[in-house]
Parts: sequence; structure tokens; C-alpha cells
Amino acid sequence: MEEQQQGQQGGACMICCEQKVEGIQILTQFLCHECEREIVKTDVEDERYAYYIDRMKRIWLEAIS
Ligand SMILES: [Zn+2]
Repeated sequence: MEEQQQGQQGGACMICCEQKVEGIQILTQFLCHECEREIVKTDVEDERYAYYIDRMKRIWLEAIS
């Protein structure tokens, strides 16, 4: 049985900018599974964490403005 999954068509990841099929849609942006995992395991004191948060904040602000 063939079933098309809605809302999981993939896109360009907002963190690594690579074209990915699997991931999650955050408002207008797409976040791939690998980056999602990276964010989860990244320590708060890691400088990458601040980068991730900054990217997400920007998207959030764009969406609500
Ligand atoms: Zn990614």
C-alpha cells in the first residue's frame, strides 16, 4: 500500500544548509534530523549552542513579525 506522507517533504536545512529529506518543519524553516540531534546533544556552554539558538530565534522573530 502506497501512502504519501504529508508535511515531510524535506528541504534545505536551516543549520547545515544541505538538502535533506528527513527532518522537521519549524514554522517556515526546515531542520534536518542530524542537526536536530546535534542541538539536543550540544552543551549549553558550547559556542555552537548559541549559534543554533540564534538561528532559531531569527526564524521565530521573522514568523511573528
Ligand atoms: Zn542540517
